[in-house]
Amino acid sequence: MSDLVKVYGSKVFNDTVMRQRLPKESYNEVRRVMRDYSHLTVDIANSVAACMKEWATEQGVTHFTHWFQPMTGLTAEKHESFISPVGPTGSSVIAEFSGKELVRGEPDASSFPSGGIRATFEARGYTVWDITSPAFIKGNVLCIPTAFCSYSGEALDQKTPLLRSMQAISREAQRILKLLGTENPPGVRTTVGAEQEYFLVDSKVLDQRPDLLFTGRTLVGARPPRGQEMEDHYFGVLKPRVAEFMTDLNEELWKLGVLAKTQHNEVAPAQHELAPIFTTTNIAADHNQLIMETLKTVAKRHGLEALLHEKPFAGVNGSGKHNNWALSTDDGENLLDPGNTPAKNARFLLFLSAVIKSVDEHQDLLRMSVATAGNDHRLGANEAPPAIVSIFLGEELDAVLQAIKKGEEYIGPGKLPMTIGVDSLPHFAKDTTDRNRTSPFAFTGNKFEFRMPGSSLSISGPNTILNTIVADALSQFADKLEKSSDVNAAISEIVKDTITKHERIIFNGNNYASEWVDEAAKRGLLNLTSAVDAIPLMEKSENIKLFERLGVFSESEVKSRVELSLENYYKTIHFEALTVVDMAHRDVDPAVIAYESEVAKLAKTLKELGIDNTNELGLLKNLLKLGGASAKALATLEGELVAADKQSDALSIAKHYRERVFPAMQSLRSVVDELETVVAAKYWPYPSYGQILYGVR
Ligand code: ADP
Ligand code: MG
Repeated sequence: MSDLVKVYGSKVFNDTVMRQRLPKESYNEVRRVMRDYSHLTVDIANSVAACMKEWATEQGVTHFTHWFQPMTGLTAEKHESFISPVGPTGSSVIAEFSGKELVRGEPDASSFPSGGIRATFEARGYTVWDITSPAFIKGNVLCIPTAFCSYSGEALDQKTPLLRSMQAISREAQRILKLLGTENPPGVRTTVGAEQEYFLVDSKVLDQRPDLLFTGRTLVGARPPRGQEMEDHYFGVLKPRVAEFMTDLNEELWKLGVLAKTQHNEVAPAQHELAPIFTTTNIAADHNQLIMETLKTVAKRHGLEALLHEKPFAGVNGSGKHNNWALSTDDGENLLDPGNTPAKNARFLLFLSAVIKSVDEHQDLLRMSVATAGNDHRLGANEAPPAIVSIFLGEELDAVLQAIKKGEEYIGPGKLPMTIGVDSLPHFAKDTTDRNRTSPFAFTGNKFEFRMPGSSLSISGPNTILNTIVADALSQFADKLEKSSDVNAAISEIVKDTITKHERIIFNGNNYASEWVDEAAKRGLLNLTSAVDAIPLMEKSENIKLFERLGVFSESEVKSRVELSLENYYKTIHFEALTVVDMAHRDVDPAVIAYESEVAKLAKTLKELGIDNTNELGLLKNLLKLGGASAKALATLEGELVAADKQSDALSIAKHYRERVFPAMQSLRSVVDELETVVAAKYWPYPSYGQILYGVR
């Protein structure tokens, strides 16, 4: 491995590079703009661009691109070369890159989804430099992280609303800090560390599976007769390759300034996890996109394929993306750290209350923010976490809040009673003892871990929601505190009021237990098991008002996002259905028929020879029975696909796919999977789960 210190950030136009290369005045101005979310003047932009170009061309870069995140959930780029002709005939060229090219671009936006926005406004789209996220080099291209919006400023991407939500929460948190006595409060940013789960499989195996190739998940596949016990065997074969892959992966990510520490995940065979060190949310979101992209490209180099789908294999644990989230001041103080001093605990309890209140009041939005066809296989299926949003606080914190609610003394871990007074909030330790792995939203010492996002999701969506709803709660608290003559008393009141009203959202037990579903229903918590139920809740009138109030989304932006999410949902299932129909007709049916005819021939020969053919006839009948059931299930599925065309609006189409097409796919799958267990292996067209996951049949 190369020297980490040398490699780290070598492809990033980061603070160190800027400090070294920019004129002092430009550097200071850039720092100021980054801090205040303001704009660069043309002169400074030109100076930064020139410096960036020089730095990039020294590393062999010839092109630049505005790198952005359209609403497909992926990233987009359009490369332009630095080349600029000189002289009237253009006989020679120079490398050029202006401030204007750096800060604004005008990609052809028509190929990106807008959910109807551009039709009603203006066809053009603009990319605008996100100066707070550093530019980086990929291959021979300088990538400039940008936001993407329409001519009239409507967001067409994932980054714009995320940046708006970060501004909203910074503004509201600063109001609170001011009320708590900080005269000139520093900026407040949310920080995120997103743990990325993924599967690694051999590319050779994958190439033989149209389902994995086209949809990222297996649409058919019988469970292997033996499961996890075989893992050791497989890893014996794969281990050196996986280790080499991870070394290579880490190095690529370090170059890009992503502080990755890769580790094994033991939950499912062939499944792994990568956790970077946390950073400011918009950078974390950019980095997560880079992580997903790099996982794929580096895996290919090693003859492997990284699967990012939420549920590549039925019956095997799926993949998620744990979103660790906290709030931090620009002075580096974590506002979700319980701290050691009572005064800071007051601040902590206030921010904690804002999270509790907002998560309870906006369960629908949090659930919606992770609603995709892929994630439906995890949430609400027989897998963790459940579709019900709840918060894990841990015993101690829960006890503190309960004491506050009852106006009682809190008995600390040292068994000493502590008075919950207005000025003397109790001391409590950062909770490290009890860890709950089943909660969808767990407090883990000084941050919350939102565990519902799926492995392939852009983290911008869930973090936009999280920032928005907490900003709203903080804003309501600030309104109250501003009006009160006794701030300390008002804080106590807010904390007490929050725990009294929102206690139902706190659940420290086992979220996987079936009893929790009943208990949650009694508490009146939402249990939205399907993306189709969750997505439309974004456009409830109170939610639109919330987004408008905080300046995160306009009404038309909300509506376009709902439309697009529903479209993504049904297109995903549509594509899966077409793939499995194709597989059934062209691979599975012919395999079954070939095996049937071999068995039939043998049965006939045996009969002619006067030998008992009971077994062969039995097998043949079973094959014919299953083949018939499969044909019937296939016809049903095809019928449902035709019926889907008769639905008109996005919601009805999505519902049809959820209620009719998906179950028809499941029925077909169950027959095909049964066939796989009786058809001779040499006739079966696809590598089995055993081969994919364990390297054995
Ligand atoms: P665990 O192993 O218990 O899940 P870690 O402490 O290793 O927890 O952290 C998991 C992730 O949470 C890492 O990506 C880490 O950088 C991130 N994280 C830690 N502190 C914060 C914070 N204040 N804000 C956001 N993310 C954080
Ligand atoms: Mg974790």
